[in-house]
This record gives sequence, C-alpha cells and structure tokens, in this order.
Amino acid sequence: MKDVEERAEAVLAGLPSYVWDGERLPVPVEDIANSGFGLLVRDVEDLGTAPGAPVLRDGQSLSGLLLPARGEIWVNAAEARQWPPRRRFTIGHELGHWVMHRTGQQALFCRRSKVDETVTLPARDSAAATSGTAVARDIEEEASAFAAALLMPQWLFVREHARCDGDVATLCAAFGSSIAATERRIASLF
Ligand SMILES: [Zn+2]
Repeated sequence: MKDVEERAEAVLAGLPSYVWDGERLPVPVEDIANSGFGLLVRDVEDLGTAPGAPVLRDGQSLSGLLLPARGEIWVNAAEARQWPPRRRFTIGHELGHWVMHRTGQQALFCRRSKVDETVTLPARDSAAATSGTAVARDIEEEASAFAAALLMPQWLFVREHARCDGDVATLCAAFGSSIAATERRIASLF
C-alpha cells in the first residue's frame, strides 16, 4: 500500500504548477492525465467498441480502459453522467495502470467490479507469509489504491478532515469523491 501511495504522491509532486499547484481541490485528474501524461480522456457509450475489447458475460460491464498505443483513457459515459465522482475515480484508476502497469502497447480493460472505490490492499508481507511464496499483487487493486491516493492526497485529506471535523459530505464535495471512496479513505488514514 505504501509504495502505491508514494507513486501517487510522486506523480502529484512532479506536476508543473500550471497543471496543479499542490493545493487546489478537487485534484484536476483529467488535466493531470492530459497535460501531465499526454493521455486523451474520452467518454464512450460502448466501451466494447474498443480495439481488442473482451467479450463480456451478462451483467458485466467495463468502467474504463487504457489504450497505451493510442495514448487514450476511455471511461464509461453512462456511469460518468450518472456518477461524476465515479468518472474521476475511473480516470485515476486508468492513470494508475499507465504509471505502474503499462507494458508496451497492451490495452487494459477494467471491469466495473474491478474499479473498486473501497479497495484495501493487503500488506505484501502478510500475503506472502500466508501462502509461503511471493504473491503477485493484484494490479486492479493497485490501480484503485492509486486512484484514491491521487484524488485524495493524504496531506490535504488530513487537513480538510480536521477542518470539517470529518464530515463525509463536505469531504466528498471538496475532493469530488464518492461517499464509498471517501469513507474508505477515512478508514485507511485515521
Ligand atoms: Zn483496471
């Protein structure tokens, strides 16, 4: 968890001040993807039209995907309309894949259930101890943890949490995050 948190902090720290000044909320995640990483964010009605998209079973849907060869992040347009904080989280999740998991040109397709706003990463050591071997970390969980850390930077979250006495609605409004993601962040930081 700590290394993912550090990766997100490093991304934020490395941004030119015209993209983000380290203070302004909510964190401008689309600008960061675009100006910081040269990634175009598209809202697309049917993510299944993406090149190489997997065939989904009934009830499954994609929340987002990353097309490294094109330098594009696609987000589920219907979800984005219905839940704007969800759109921000999905962009953060795909940016996490770009920063941490990109291997060449291979596209990454993220099912709705995998873009999890309530994820908690098991500690690397405890997972390894249980199985007796080194466990490959789940890249979907890592990408979601990255999104939470990017959208709700620890130092700002702690400060705002103190200012509003931990009021979840105030924090959601400040960080542009969902209730679920905000509550998860509170639980992980306090
Ligand atoms: Zn993903």
